[in-house]
Amino acid sequence: MNKVVHYFKSLLLWELVKGLALTFRYLFRPKYTMMYPMEKFPQSPRFRGLHALRRYPNGEERCIACKLCEAVCPALAITIDSARREDGTRRTTRYDIDLFKCIYCGFCEESCPVDSIVETHVMEYHFERRGENIVTKPQLLALGDRLEAEIAERRAADAAYR
Ligand code: SF4
Ligand code: SF4
Repeated sequence: MNKVVHYFKSLLLWELVKGLALTFRYLFRPKYTMMYPMEKFPQSPRFRGLHALRRYPNGEERCIACKLCEAVCPALAITIDSARREDGTRRTTRYDIDLFKCIYCGFCEESCPVDSIVETHVMEYHFERRGENIVTKPQLLALGDRLEAEIAERRAADAAYR
């Protein structure tokens, strides 16, 4: 009996009819497709995108060159050199992140005792020349300066869960 049913189903293109029925069922429903980049999905405050280095409101760098982020990075993507300043404080002289190595795990952000290195919501970036994958300290600070308001807002939104 099964063989007969199977024979008639294949004769009547039953699988095709089922597929078309499914297509018609979804034809007039709201579409899930996003028209990126005009439309964008909402992002979590915890989204881990491009890195940035933050400053205090008085303009002083937050980073104290403790190198915890460098030590914790599983991809060995961070390279830090440091030196003592005239006022006796220690600051980085070099802070590079190799974005080809980075796996966006967020460990650097989690390990930082002064909320200096953070991962921003920026996910749309590209490189055009060899070496642009290494993001330097001035670039990271400039990103932090530009995005500070959004960074602070997102961290405040996530503060209760940290
Ligand atoms: S996000 Fe992870 S892999 Fe990338 S620099 Fe930070 S610790 Fe390293
Ligand atoms: S970014 Fe944070 S964890 Fe990394 S060296 Fe600076 S203070 Fe330390």
